[in-house]
Amino acid sequence: MRFHLPRLLLLCALFVPVVGQADHDVHQTRLLLISEEEELRISRQAWTNTLNDPNVTLSINPAETDPVLRVAERIIAAAKRSDYAKRAQSLEWEIVTIKDDDTQNAWALDGGKIAIHTGMFPMLFTESGLAAVIGHEVGHALMRHGTERASQHRTANVGLNLAGLFLGLDPVTGQLANLAITGGVLLPFSRSHESEADHLGLLLAAEAGYDPEAAVFVWERMAESSDGAPPEFLSTHPAHDTRIANLTRWMPEAVEMYERSRKAPDALLPDITTP
Ligand SMILES: [Zn+2]
Repeated sequence: MRFHLPRLLLLCALFVPVVGQADHDVHQTRLLLISEEEELRISRQAWTNTLNDPNVTLSINPAETDPVLRVAERIIAAAKRSDYAKRAQSLEWEIVTIKDDDTQNAWALDGGKIAIHTGMFPMLFTESGLAAVIGHEVGHALMRHGTERASQHRTANVGLNLAGLFLGLDPVTGQLANLAITGGVLLPFSRSHESEADHLGLLLAAEAGYDPEAAVFVWERMAESSDGAPPEFLSTHPAHDTRIANLTRWMPEAVEMYERSRKAPDALLPDITTP
């Protein structure tokens, strides 16, 4: 596991700890301390910071970038036909492929900015697998999980103001990173968020014409992919079996949507060779 991208990792931790898991699918109370307009502004700023980070290299290989763009386009179109249509219309969607074959990670900002690391590709196999991950990330952004999480941070009275939490990406402080990564106060929320993103992501992928069963295979492969240490994408995810059980429970609804959908071509993803 490489941790040479502290700023990026911090970003992931704050906005989208990509995996987790929940015992309950929804929670009633939403704590959102900033407006959607402010959320967009903060997201734009954080995105610019990330793309300008000298440690971040974007892939320019069409074999890697084209599938990501193709799948994202269909998922976002599906989001615009969903119950979240208004929200999906208002976001400033953008997706990049980060050239980093060693990192199994993907993340999203609530303003609609999404990144996937090329290290995820071997876990995904096909564009349906990619759709499972992109659907999950789009789900986080639609449901404003990053904002909710940051709002939680503030009320946890940790001495950080909200803007500082979002924008504290520039002067990276170990304290903030540690807090974001290990803050136990946020864990239950995270699990709930992960489960919500799994559910919405599954339905979005199916509506977009991708086989929802791929999601199960993706999580299975990721859980099995390493000897002992889990991949980064799973490192905060303690209850793999519960996640699979949830996906199985939601699958009939997703399959029904998939059967009705305009099917997407399901091409193989490129092989990534790690030196
Ligand atoms: Zn997630």
